[in-house]
Amino acid sequence: RAKEDGRNNIRFFNPAMQAVVDANARMEARLHEAIESTAFRLFFQPQVDRQGKLTGAEALIRWPVAEGQMVSPAEFIPLAEDTGQIVPIGLWVLRTACAQLALWQSQAQTRHLTMAVNVSARQFHQPDFVASVKKCVSAAGIDPSRLKLELTEGVILGDSNEVVARMNQLRELGIHFALDDFGTGYSSLSCLKRLPFDELKIDQSFIRDMASNESSEAIVLAILSMSQALDLEVLAEGVETPIQREFLRLHGCERYQGYLFGKPQPIENWADFLAMT
Ligand code: C2E
Ligand code: MG
Ligand code: MG
Ligand code: MG
Repeated sequence: RAKEDGRNNIRFFNPAMQAVVDANARMEARLHEAIESTAFRLFFQPQVDRQGKLTGAEALIRWPVAEGQMVSPAEFIPLAEDTGQIVPIGLWVLRTACAQLALWQSQAQTRHLTMAVNVSARQFHQPDFVASVKKCVSAAGIDPSRLKLELTEGVILGDSNEVVARMNQLRELGIHFALDDFGTGYSSLSCLKRLPFDELKIDQSFIRDMASNESSEAIVLAILSMSQALDLEVLAEGVETPIQREFLRLHGCERYQGYLFGKPQPIENWADFLAMT
């Protein structure tokens, strides 16, 4: 099309597209500075069992840019993934989460808690990913069986032999795996059986819609019974109301995460959550 209108190919970009390109370039430059100065923070969201007892946390990155202002990870993680900046960012997240897990493991009251860490596709597929996880684990001196890596379906697309091999190397250390945002991607049942996941996380969109949308409810029920059949643990994401929790509990859901139990918080604000142990 650009050729047809007889000018150069740049014509393909209209002003709106150019604005997006410029905004991304600016954000990339700011991300670079944030990496250099470790301007990120790690928040932790509680995960609970059927009785509402604390079982652990998911670590979620935050990027404070100005007084009381944060850039959402939903905005900068995909960009960091494109630019490769996710690799140093992901390493910082893993190191910081392992350091927190070490603190928990040093105290009787919190020794059993698990730490879930999100791993992006680009990070997982780095040739030295397994080595860098091992390094984090030994540097922090943690029992790795309480560390859980969350992968999305995007991570496991592609060469599944390579993915299985990599997961198994980490499992040998005792590390666990959760499949994040389950139901939103394209995982087949056979792929679920082939890959050594310990837990499925039902995507929050299904939890949000299940009361108003019959197919969301059907998907939630299917995931719950499938995970029982495949002997996988199951966690519901985005649980916000007691009605949602009751429905999930009635149908055998084991673990829960969502605003009903607590929003992601810096560790200094975790006193109330620790009281749920
Ligand atoms: P995710 O891994 O699926 O994380 C769950 C997201 O749901 C978090 O958003 C969390 O704050 C939000 N959430 C939890 N409970 C509720 C609820 O009851 N209601 C609603 N409306 N939302 C809830 P957040 O922190 O904005 O993160 C968004 C996504 O960014 C994450 O989705 C994950 O894909 C990515 N992300 C966050 N931190 C990291 C990280 O350290 N590394 C990587 N690779 N990705 C990250
Ligand atoms: Mg996650
Ligand atoms: Mg999720
Ligand atoms: Mg998500």
